[in-house]
Order: sequence, then structure tokens, then C-alpha cells
Amino acid sequence: MRIFDPHIHMTSRTTDDYAAMYEAGVRALVEPSFWLGQPRTSPASFCDYFDSLLGWEPYRAAQHGIAHHCTLALNPKEAGDERCVPVLDELPRYLVKDGVVAVGEIGYDSMTPAEDTALAAQLQLAADHGLPALVHTPHRDKAAGLARTLDVLRESELPPERVVLDHLNETTVARAADSGCWMGFSIYPDTKMDEHRMVRLLRLHGTDRVLVNSAADWGRSDPLKTRAVADAMRADGFTEDDVETVLWHNPVAFYGQSGRLQLETGPPPPSTHEGNSILRGGD
Ligand SMILES: [Zn+2]
Repeated sequence: MRIFDPHIHMTSRTTDDYAAMYEAGVRALVEPSFWLGQPRTSPASFCDYFDSLLGWEPYRAAQHGIAHHCTLALNPKEAGDERCVPVLDELPRYLVKDGVVAVGEIGYDSMTPAEDTALAAQLQLAADHGLPALVHTPHRDKAAGLARTLDVLRESELPPERVVLDHLNETTVARAADSGCWMGFSIYPDTKMDEHRMVRLLRLHGTDRVLVNSAADWGRSDPLKTRAVADAMRADGFTEDDVETVLWHNPVAFYGQSGRLQLETGPPPPSTHEGNSILRGGD
């Protein structure tokens, strides 16, 4: 089977993870830009990170037969930091690059006025560049966060079919479904959504416009959770077509709106990227 993980932070994962993901069926992924766990202190720090998501990380993924794409943005946690906000002026030159398939992650963290401004500005950037947007819904106060997100989306030029609302759960799925946006679910090892809750949601709401991701990063997370959902769907009696719809065709359809998906990985690329080798530890 083929799996497309539409939200995973490979920068914080090991080479063994890439090998295990390939073994589990992962053939394509999208890596959204995000917070680094500590505050950035300048736009230059974002630019180095964006360059890595466009160069080094796709190279590393391709060594393991996995097609890598990214989404770029000023993330919600840093949207209120005046040292970081000027990266909004750098984004346009990155959003034209081939590996960028959406603007993201954007959205709310603490629902501050600064986050309002950054969200609206970046939805406009997505509209201007013909890109979809990956919109994170807050982990705290989910219902209010989603309501406020939908208000901002309605005022934007971006149509709902070009937006995925991520980190949804049982309390937010109906509202998200009514909005016409795509619905993203992040499957975690022991908190928030797990694969069995996901299967129950698929039974209730169907497979239409649903994306399932591992959202794996440097926190407690599991890059094989997409495969766990596939297995749980089969165990619950879903057909192979249903499984492939959720784990492959839906993310291809959503991110395909960028016109930039490259799903053929071909033979592994040369053993160095800009002079750096994975095999020798990047000396
Ligand atoms: Zn994320």
C-alpha cells in the first residue's frame, strides 16, 4: 500500500524513522514549517530553516525512496514576536519555489491580535500564490479557536476547498465539515486522537475531505501512525479503496491544488547534497 503523510516534521526525526516509514508504505510526505522548541531571534533563522526544508530534507527523504514537500509560514507561536514577524516579507520569494505545496502551519495558538494579523496576512499570501493553506487549530480551547479561525477564513480570498483545518477531534469535526474545508486529524501515541478514535470518526463522517497525519516531531509522537490508521481501518471492515482514499488519494488531491506535487522518487540521488553526505555523517 501507498501512504502519504500530509503533516510530519522530519527535521526532528532520525534516518531510522525514514527507513521504518518506507517499510510501512510511506512514499510521500509534507513537512510543515513550525516552531523549533525555542524562540527564533531573527528572520534569518527562518530562512536557514526554509532552505533546509527545500534542500537537505528532500535529499534525505529521497535516499529512502520518499517524496518530500513542505509548507512554509510564520507559525502561530511566533506570530507575536517582533523579532520574527519580518519573515512575512521574506515569504513571497520562498512561496514560488517548487517544493512548496502550501502556506502553513498558520492559525491560532493563544488567539492574540498579533495572531489575527499574521493569519490574515498569510491567507492572503496563499491566495496571491495560488497555494492551499494548512491551518492549525489550537490544542487548548478548541471550539472557540475553530470558530475564530472560520471567521477569519470567511473574510479571506481563499476558498474553503483550498484550506485544511488540522488537529481536529470529535468536538470540532462537525463544524469543520460544514465549513467546506478539508479536515486534518493528527494521530498521537497516548493523548489527543488515536487510531481507534479516528476509525470511529471515519465511520460517522465518511472519508470525504479527510486527511490523517502523524504530526510527528521531537515530542512524544510516532511517524508510523498513518500506517496504524490504515491497519485499524482494515480491522474495522473498511475496504482497500477506503484506506487508499484516506491515506493516499485525499492528500494527493489536497496538496495537488498547488500544481507542484512530485510523487516519483526514482533512484536515490547522488550521495552528497551541497558537499554534505549522510553516509559519512555530514562532515
Ligand atoms: Zn505540526
